[in-house]
Amino acid sequence: ASVEGRRMVESRRSLPAFKQRDSVLKAISQNQVIVISGETGCGKTTQIPQFILESEIEANRGAFCNIICTQPRRISAMSVSERVAYERGEQLGESVGYKVRLEGVRGRDTRLLFCTTGVLLRRLLVDRNLRGVTHVIVDEIHERGMNEDFLLIILKDLLSRRPELKLILMSATLDAQLFSSYFGGTGVIHIPGFTYPVRSYFLEDILEMTGYRLTPYNQIDDYGQERTWKMNKQIPRKRKSQIAFVVEDALRAADFKEFRPETQESLSCWNPDCIGFNLIEFILCHICENGSPGGILVFMTGWDDISSLKEKLQIHPIFGNPDRVMLLACHGSMASFEQRLIFEEPASGVRKIVLATNIAETSITINDVAFVIDCGKAKETSYDALNNTPCLLPSWISKVSAQQRRGRAGRVQPGQCYHLYPKYVYDAFAEYQLPEILRTPLQSLCLQIKSLNLGSISEFLSRALQSPELLAVQKAIEYLKIIGALDENEYLTTLGRYLSKLPMEPKLGKMLILGAILGCLDPILTVAAGLSVRDPFLTPVDKKDLAEAAKSQFSRDNSDHLALVRAYEGWKKAEVESAVYDYCWKNFLSIQSMRAIDSLRKEFFSLLKNIGLIDGNPAIYNSEGNDENLTRAVICYGLYPGICSVVHNERSFSLKTMEDGQVLLYSNSVNARETKIPYPWLVFNEKIKVNSVFLRDSTAVSDSVLILFGGSISKGNIDGHLKMLGGYLEFFM
Ligand code: ADP
Ligand code: MG
Repeated sequence: ASVEGRRMVESRRSLPAFKQRDSVLKAISQNQVIVISGETGCGKTTQIPQFILESEIEANRGAFCNIICTQPRRISAMSVSERVAYERGEQLGESVGYKVRLEGVRGRDTRLLFCTTGVLLRRLLVDRNLRGVTHVIVDEIHERGMNEDFLLIILKDLLSRRPELKLILMSATLDAQLFSSYFGGTGVIHIPGFTYPVRSYFLEDILEMTGYRLTPYNQIDDYGQERTWKMNKQIPRKRKSQIAFVVEDALRAADFKEFRPETQESLSCWNPDCIGFNLIEFILCHICENGSPGGILVFMTGWDDISSLKEKLQIHPIFGNPDRVMLLACHGSMASFEQRLIFEEPASGVRKIVLATNIAETSITINDVAFVIDCGKAKETSYDALNNTPCLLPSWISKVSAQQRRGRAGRVQPGQCYHLYPKYVYDAFAEYQLPEILRTPLQSLCLQIKSLNLGSISEFLSRALQSPELLAVQKAIEYLKIIGALDENEYLTTLGRYLSKLPMEPKLGKMLILGAILGCLDPILTVAAGLSVRDPFLTPVDKKDLAEAAKSQFSRDNSDHLALVRAYEGWKKAEVESAVYDYCWKNFLSIQSMRAIDSLRKEFFSLLKNIGLIDGNPAIYNSEGNDENLTRAVICYGLYPGICSVVHNERSFSLKTMEDGQVLLYSNSVNARETKIPYPWLVFNEKIKVNSVFLRDSTAVSDSVLILFGGSISKGNIDGHLKMLGGYLEFFM
């Protein structure tokens, strides 16, 4: 143990943060608030909280100190706490613990707790002064996540009530001044780092160097195929994306004239809407054949494209061979054994390849990386306040993110970074990413403000680091009133109080609450989980008809949501017979999405149990004999006011919403195959605006269901309404 221990001390001492130990501790003792910036991997997250803990112990205050360190993601809270406990030679749950949604390890003697920002916000619900807490460390503030910006407003108020409380903010970029002036000009410490030079290759350099040819077809793969198909067939593209023009203009201006004609030809075929899996595979081969040793980190957009690429690489003779390559995924929903593998050193002669989301940009440092492949995109919620249309789509990253990604290649030796887009596109990137509070719907945030008793929503938000537009705030409040979470005076209703305790979109929470009470929780768990993951129904371009026919087998009643419920029931049965692969293949279902639905169902169930709405087993809450009309009503209750009217004409029908006028259906909706819909309304989950407004996943409902389950019914007391609903239901059934 002592050899191990000595090595640990050595490796801690070698981190740049260690050299700043004394100045950090001194600054903390002299200021109530300090901001620490330092490059990813310099030791902020693992070391600074330990410095504080150690110095409190040295000063004989160990028994009284209580340090909370927040992380934007659960995965980093878990992995960091494990690491810090290990560095201290302890088990998790002794002096170091963690707490994330639904999980945690902490003991009586835990003095340093890593938690998600959401967990600290929920603690503030019951303990607004954070009694007994001596230090709050807010990590990764440069990301400007909604929860972190929100927490900073609250902490700013709290500091005057708790003058002895210390606040430490940590950032991986050099934006410390912004935060320092928000807190009235506080101490700032920068930890200088060291990295090796990284050589950048943009798309044109890659093509020129390797001779790889892009054609309109070789950028298409299972995953990209689906997306391209969606772009081409479902969304009429009158205009090309801005990004495509940037490259076209450069080509026209002969800016690539010193490049070979083949390279120029290839660039003109580049499809900015696709992540070229084939190109990634080619570059991986190129590195393995020519490059020096070192890990490869591939930045992708999310769990879905990561698992698709992983499946593709697993059947490759090199990448699928564990004696040559350690192939890993790194994203927010990975299992904890997979997390541990990411930090593990591969056997000699084995190269580590990690397919990661932007989690690996700043929150998780993978040690031995020397090569980075950057697809240039990340998934983020973008939000248009005017149209109230949120959507989670991959979008181009900022220059700062691209530089962060590149920097990951230079930690251990001079590195290389392959950007899968031309330099001209990089030049067109925004300098910084907009803070989340300015680009996402504010409904959940508004509920939290209300449940924390923070007064007027708009007054409160005007005190943010950067305040959202008034229009966006008004839209959110209006929505919460319509769904019955707030009353006319902006007070939280009973439903609103329940919703604020459920860390999920209000519409999902609403659906689950009523599903639990009305005894159809089982199908509603599937619907709510299905709305949270990538569409499990696949539509490959060359098998479109077969795929759509497969989906329509699950549907008899004009509902995509109920089609999913049946598809999931079949999947469960196939699981018992160990036949899920066959089942998914035959029915064009994404096996990853089905698995994700399965695990989200369990998570939602535990959350409902936590707030005391249910106990026991979900089967109990499934009404006998599959009452689909009841399920349909609960779906309507959740999705309202996402509703459009069905207008029939001679041969088919058209759809209208109040705000948008005519709207269209995604072509893989079961309702898009119909010529007639025997109901007057469709409720839908999501609107996406691209030239026209498209609806994704819809369920047809009748007048009576809409009247009974449309939002306004839940105003006031939830119990009273449920009694009333019960009465109506008996009457109607
Ligand atoms: P920062 O927060 O400044 O980005 P960290 O404190 O997270 O840096 O990491 C400091 C160092 O500790 C890095 O070199 C990182 O690779 C290493 N490290 C962090 N977590 C682990 C872990 N779970 N296993 C092994 N090494 C780790
Ligand atoms: Mg960190």
